[in-house]
Amino acid sequence: MEPLRVTNPATGQLIQSIPAADAQAADAAMARARAAQPAWGALPFSVRARTLRRLARALRDDLTFLDTLSAESGKPRYEAEGIELFYTLELTRYYTGRAGRRALADDLRHPFVFTNKRARVVRHPRGVVAVIGPWNWPLLNNYADCIAPLVAGNAVVLKPSEHTPMTSLRVADIARASGVPDGVFQVVAGRGDVGAALTATADMIFFTGSAATGKRVAQAAAVRLVPAVLELGGKSPMIVLADADLRRAAHAAVWSGFANSGQVCIRTERVIVEDAVADRFVELAAAEIAQLRQGPPPLGKPDASDIDVGAIAFAPQIERAQQHIADARARGGRIVTGGARRADLPGQFFAPTLIADATPEMAVMREETFGPVLPVMRVPDAEAALRAANDSPMGLSGSIWSGDARRARALARRLQAGSVCVNDVLVNYFCVEAPLGGIKGSGTGFRHGREGLQQFCRVETIIEDHPLLGWLSPLLGRELTFPYKPRTLQLLRRFMKLFY
Ligand code: NDP
Repeated sequence: MEPLRVTNPATGQLIQSIPAADAQAADAAMARARAAQPAWGALPFSVRARTLRRLARALRDDLTFLDTLSAESGKPRYEAEGIELFYTLELTRYYTGRAGRRALADDLRHPFVFTNKRARVVRHPRGVVAVIGPWNWPLLNNYADCIAPLVAGNAVVLKPSEHTPMTSLRVADIARASGVPDGVFQVVAGRGDVGAALTATADMIFFTGSAATGKRVAQAAAVRLVPAVLELGGKSPMIVLADADLRRAAHAAVWSGFANSGQVCIRTERVIVEDAVADRFVELAAAEIAQLRQGPPPLGKPDASDIDVGAIAFAPQIERAQQHIADARARGGRIVTGGARRADLPGQFFAPTLIADATPEMAVMREETFGPVLPVMRVPDAEAALRAANDSPMGLSGSIWSGDARRARALARRLQAGSVCVNDVLVNYFCVEAPLGGIKGSGTGFRHGREGLQQFCRVETIIEDHPLLGWLSPLLGRELTFPYKPRTLQLLRRFMKLFY
């Protein structure tokens, strides 16, 4: 099998060739996971939580691991440490703390009809979860997505993208050294066939990636009737109303458009601005872009923060950006800044590109670009902005900018998206207490919040006698069973009249 050749996209240099796992290796990992899971799932919550916190601290203290992350993805140290690692620690804190314990605890419910009974809702681990990750966030959308299933008592087999497998392999080493039992967390570094093999056997699939692959994963899951969480792409709009703080809005648009070189699922993919302030907005955004520093991130220098925009991690994204720019230009779009690959830099760099006068039929307004290109479209008013924003097959995220918080919230409720920020961007990813997931073509299921943890459990309901109220039946002790008696039916009729 052809090895995985991992290159540094910021320099074009080969970092390492690593042996590629095949479908058989995926099956073997699944078998090890199956053998290890029952003991892990049977541990008290506190023991699993302690182990994962130990792993998180080891990641925090291992400085070389962040260089691996930065090198294979071409991103600035700030994004590797200040976003990916920080997020991983925060998510570990949340799920291994009180919120995680509560979400997984038995939950008691009291039936109205049978006051003498009690329903106990029990959450069991599903078994082995396959986590399939993309290349844009080698830690945050790979190991970090394993935290919730592991906390819930599942074993996890992680398949990172073939383009960025090294971070996940390092995490697996650090996990072993941190006391995560053998077989509980494994990484299988291979190509799409490995992902397909995992989807054919796992008890649940958590997939992050493109819609095309996501549909294949959903089909594989449907054949075996196992749940699949699909976190797919987005075309998240930013609506800027005339009463917004324009300076802040422009600053936020530039950050959420160009952070991680635009390779962010919840990034601002299109800006929709009220006509009255559109020119000023474009001017402010262009001035912000002019300040951005782009280039290869220095490795081995944790304190160097002289880069804002890193490389494009996956070469075909450059072509996509070029196509969207050419299409926009042909349809009357104005390229305000950027517009081309940075020939003066080594590796895969693309100049942050701002497109003014965008229109709804442009590809850059309809299809996910997933790169450093930001189109700005003008609309007459807020209603037109909302119509344009919702005119998309995707619905992952979005933001509304206005000086009137109530008006912004009212619009936010009507935006077709899984998660919306008012007067802010991207912070929804760090609000781990609340669920974040896509609607429409952006996927199903969640990460974050108790919803994001409970989905990794199968639910069992146990009905038992209430320890104190076992004697108190609303139907005066009568059973609703054979033999059917007219007197019981009369009693039921009275009950139905009284309560419904
Ligand atoms: P892909 O869909 O190409 O790949 C995702 C993962 O699936 C990779 O590990 C890939 O392996 C694997 N894979 C490929 N074929 C199969 C298969 N038949 N069965 C199972 N797994 C398979 O996506 P990208 O890596 O290009 O990621 C970019 C996309 O991810 C963007 O659209 C982006 O919006 C989305 N994304 C969504 C997020 C969200 O939370 N909603 C977050 C981050 C990204 P290999 O790489 O080896 O081919």
